[in-house]
Amino acid sequence: MDKIIRNRIKCKKCGDIIESKSVHDFVECRCRSIAVDGGHEYQRWVGNIEDIEDLSIVEKDNTAKRAQPQERRDNNGKTSPIQEN
Ligand SMILES: [Zn+2]
Repeated sequence: MDKIIRNRIKCKKCGDIIESKSVHDFVECRCRSIAVDGGHEYQRWVGNIEDIEDLSIVEKDNTAKRAQPQERRDNNGKTSPIQEN
């Protein structure tokens, strides 16, 4: 299964970069043309696909094996470059 590192998109209309950080974290851009949801579980995008620029980071699963249990990534500790006015 692919691993979603960053569920993040940019609105081409207002330039907002929005990111869903958890499953029920529904985030709209400033002009409300687009929205993102699903966090690291799934990528759900709302709005016109022409208005969306994909800035997501998805780690492709090359192995069919389970992820290493000792490997932990801090997905929520970093702040994203969201600009708010
Ligand atoms: Zn927008």
